[in-house]
Amino acid sequence: MRAKIVAGNWKMNKNLADTGVLLSELKEKLNTSTEAQVIVAPTFTNLYYAFEELKGSNIGVAAQNMHQAESGAFTGEISVDMLSSIGVKTVILGHSERRAYFGETDELLAEKVTTALKHGMTIIFCFGEELEERKSDNHFNVVESQLKNALFKLDSEAWKQIVLAYEPVWAIGTGETASPEQAQEMHAFIRKTIAEAYTTEIAEEVSILYGGSVKPNNAKEIFAKPDVDGGLIGGASLDAESFSAIATSF
Ligand code: PGA
Repeated sequence: MRAKIVAGNWKMNKNLADTGVLLSELKEKLNTSTEAQVIVAPTFTNLYYAFEELKGSNIGVAAQNMHQAESGAFTGEISVDMLSSIGVKTVILGHSERRAYFGETDELLAEKVTTALKHGMTIIFCFGEELEERKSDNHFNVVESQLKNALFKLDSEAWKQIVLAYEPVWAIGTGETASPEQAQEMHAFIRKTIAEAYTTEIAEEVSILYGGSVKPNNAKEIFAKPDVDGGLIGGASLDAESFSAIATSF
């Protein structure tokens, strides 16, 4: 059985005090175990604090990014060793905002993936097409090439540490969601593509999350689709009530 996962990407939101408030609300609301693994990704300055606060709870912590180099003269960057040394074992890579605003390419992401895997991290790997690409009916090609370029050089073993997050760029932060059918269609395509490149078993075992304007009122319908194993949540993860409603929408 594939893992069901709901991850909250807090992006550049919540200072230390706000992080404390949201974490205690989440601990209270999600104290009985949910069917899904619940993860939150606060910003770097609050990660260690979040990790400590969530010890003993059933909520995990992820980083939003990391640098591909092990260490060195990269002012302002965060290494994988820094993350593991504070107990963080999961990292989000390839978010569309990283791709769009910080020039992250599939090739760079392949390097980040290699470094993260070497240190035993689990990776939530994000990808998805832009609006123009969907309009011109290129979305399957785009997704296929994103997967190929960033992940298909990995050996089979490595897939145990990969979680995929399909996030159509036109649905992120826009209030416009892919319909449950559009999400299912793409997730099934992703699984087929992995099965062709690797094996059916690997394709069946990888969790594929949907991201892009998931809210309490649409989560259930999206998560009910057979190839959707949960969600990567932006805006709605900043509110404890919304996020816990989504995390229990299975
Ligand atoms: P959103 O963001 O839920 O605010 O659309 C999703 C994401 O960026 O992962």
